[in-house]
Amino acid sequence: MPHYTPLIATVVAGLVAAFFMGALAMRLRVSPIAGYLVAGVMVGPFTPGFVADPNLANELAEIGVILLMFGVGLHFSVKDLMAVRRIAVPGAVVQIATATVLGMALAWLMGWGLLSGFIFGLALSVASTVVLLRALQVRDLVETERGRIAVGWLIVEDLVMVLALVLLPVLAGIALDPQSEGLSAIGWPVLVTILKVSGFVALMLLVGRRIIPWALHWVVHTGSRELFRLAVLAIALGVAAGSAFIFDVSFALGAFFAGMILGETPLSRRAAEETLPLRDAFAVLFFVSVGMLFDPMVILRQPLPLLATVTIITVGKSLAAYAIVRVSGYPRETAMTVAASLAQIGEFSFILVTLGFGLGVLPSEARDLILAGAIISIFLHPFLFSYIAHRAREAAKVDAPPVAAPSATLVHVVLVGYGRVGRLIAKALRERNKPLVVIESNAELTDAARRDGHEAVTGNALDRRVLEAAGIDRATSLLIAIPEGFDAGAIAQKARALRPGIGIVARAHSDGEVDHLIKLGIGDVVMGERELAARMLELALRGNMQAQSI
Ligand code: AMP
Repeated sequence: MPHYTPLIATVVAGLVAAFFMGALAMRLRVSPIAGYLVAGVMVGPFTPGFVADPNLANELAEIGVILLMFGVGLHFSVKDLMAVRRIAVPGAVVQIATATVLGMALAWLMGWGLLSGFIFGLALSVASTVVLLRALQVRDLVETERGRIAVGWLIVEDLVMVLALVLLPVLAGIALDPQSEGLSAIGWPVLVTILKVSGFVALMLLVGRRIIPWALHWVVHTGSRELFRLAVLAIALGVAAGSAFIFDVSFALGAFFAGMILGETPLSRRAAEETLPLRDAFAVLFFVSVGMLFDPMVILRQPLPLLATVTIITVGKSLAAYAIVRVSGYPRETAMTVAASLAQIGEFSFILVTLGFGLGVLPSEARDLILAGAIISIFLHPFLFSYIAHRAREAAKVDAPPVAAPSATLVHVVLVGYGRVGRLIAKALRERNKPLVVIESNAELTDAARRDGHEAVTGNALDRRVLEAAGIDRATSLLIAIPEGFDAGAIAQKARALRPGIGIVARAHSDGEVDHLIKLGIGDVVMGERELAARMLELALRGNMQAQSI
């Protein structure tokens, strides 16, 4: 290379390795996250070959955290946050306490000091934002009640960690020098931190709430798409970084508030779409950066402590969270989703142990265990989440084949998508007494379909099992009312394999998609824009005739 370019090398190596390993993971039918982690180990310092810069990778990962939290904020309102506070606040506090005590017990067995045990336990208690949000997003759960509880919980954890990071140096000072001012020294930093966080929240709600939507509206009126995209990014990153530097709150919290304020404007959907590609790319780099920290030798050096650490993360924390949510009167499905979401650790744990190690109050074994525990729990998380989600569905009987009740000879229509288009079709079919089963990937919309009196299955219609659950083998026809024409093609092919000769009507958005679907042999393709043109023309001509007749 002509000059030293560590940033480019880290981004390129991270993304290229993640692409290959992610593709391999897909082929092996495991979560791509596992692939990204392995990619991280490959470009990390503990394996031979190219070594990417871990510090740069960490910073890039932080951008992923910002964009993810911004995206979640867009779907959240202050009202949503208030609605879950009764469960999220006590839940997070009790769960953090439980995990911390378990971690301290393990530390005691290992012969570490009290403060080391406390930091170790705290690091085990806090879940990773990225891992949690990805798990919820993949299953379209962010906007459900369970998803909101999990996100609210995450925000409380975030706030506790902001406090912990401020207190740690003070506690370390006391531990290393018992002659110092003692516990009375804690009061002041706690007060300052609480004031700063409150100042930040007040500033965002009072000033940000006016300025941010106003600025964005102004940009929309300039008519420049590029400027709009830039404005959204500037708001997300600017507020996150500004709040971290000025108010000492985390990047994630700053980004969340920026998103939440934008979410109250009608532009939120567009803002979310604009940040999506960047968000996904940086989230991948997050997993790569976690993989880079992993030293595989830990497994040989400390097998039993590692096993205990992973058990606390995946079992201890989940059980505590499950119990709290159940005791608070929520259904089993909600408790399971929250518990599964939290069964991992990530970025905050790294920050805590790095600080503790730097202050000289944490042994290096503790740091190694946390890093290894993080990668193993993140690796296991998708499997655990799928398993628990599956159990939860069974418990709630959500996924019971919805056509099992009607007789096997009953013929029905399978409708994919219950959005703007699908909903209208479903209503019209119902009025004509035509039996129907809806497939919709967004759980909230499936619930809406059920409330409207339809049979519905939650899931991606690209998944054969979902098509089967909708009784595709007994269906007369398949209506694919989703906006992605290429996905529609793949769904049609899978449906045909299960039910040859099924009548299919598909929706498309572009000429390319129409051609693709016709090539696949789907005769009935409806392109929204063509129908719009026809109808507008019809209305215009009618208007013209009326005008002429006046
Ligand atoms: P709309 O464009 O408003 O008609 O919404 C389309 C709906 O289709 C959305 O609610 C999506 O969640 C849903 N959808 C998109 N792709 C899939 C898929 N592969 N399987 C099931 N539902 C889908």
